Amino acid sequence: MTNLVVDCVRLDAGSVDHIEVNGQCGLDEPGVPGALVADGVVHLEAVVRAAGGSFVADGRVLGVWTAECRRCLEEVRGPLEASLHEVFEWEPTEGETWPIDDQRIDLAPAAREAAVLALPLAPLCSEDCAGPVPDRFPTGPAAASGGV
Ligand SMILES: [Zn+2]
Repeated sequence: MTNLVVDCVRLDAGSVDHIEVNGQCGLDEPGVPGALVADGVVHLEAVVRAAGGSFVADGRVLGVWTAECRRCLEEVRGPLEASLHEVFEWEPTEGETWPIDDQRIDLAPAAREAAVLALPLAPLCSEDCAGPVPDRFPTGPAAASGGV
């Protein structure tokens, strides 16, 4: 598994004007309840440039998602593709930009975030999926379940 840490020393020194990144990364937490990145792996294609003391990564994240059909719970798969545009700064803004650590930047957390945001929220195996037992479990609003 390639790690996605990019050494930006050459960018800072001006000896190159961009660094291409093309690698895979495993995700520690590959998804959200009900939807996952298949195999927990995404592919990242990106270009990193220096921008006035910070670094900017532009590219895309590619993979496959798997999820449960929200009606029949069969597995559904589809292509995962998300664009990535991230800024790395020495003093990052929480939730907006990412840290630079000793002139290195780690694209993996940004790739993970982009991938997870691209997961489908409520996938269906097909538009007209009726669920496994349409009579008992109609797909309209959920009936109040028993309980307290
Ligand atoms: Zn279904």
